[in-house]
Amino acid sequence: MSALERVARYLVVKQLADLGYVVDFIYAYFSGGSLGDAQRFGLSKTCARGYVQRIIEYCNGSFFRARAIVRHVYRFVKQLEPVILRIDGVARCTICGAELVPHHHVLQEHVARRHPDRVDDAVEKVIDAVVRSVKRVSNA
Ligand SMILES: [Zn+2]
Repeated sequence: MSALERVARYLVVKQLADLGYVVDFIYAYFSGGSLGDAQRFGLSKTCARGYVQRIIEYCNGSFFRARAIVRHVYRFVKQLEPVILRIDGVARCTICGAELVPHHHVLQEHVARRHPDRVDDAVEKVIDAVVRSVKRVSNA
């Protein structure tokens, strides 16, 4: 799996699991932000550091590569409709109807393990869009 695919998959699962605020934090961080911004996105610094470290790992330790990939995939990931719907403190999966504890770990696990096809489709869509947008820029 390429770094692009790994990062795209990581962000797609979060977006589909209705954790778009995590995706927003990661984008802000790699757009010149810092771990100090975590709170503004409703995240602890420890969690935020974990997300950032994971992304950099996926890019074989390169911060610059991570930054480039996050900036390219962000807007396409954000266009994806979450499959988890939260109502009155309960989360429901719109694909299978399961009721879930609205904890980020539970939601992510559900999406990644129960609906891998949906994740694969979304990752493919995001990567296609990135490749097309990069081509457009290089042809201009
Ligand atoms: Zn489900």
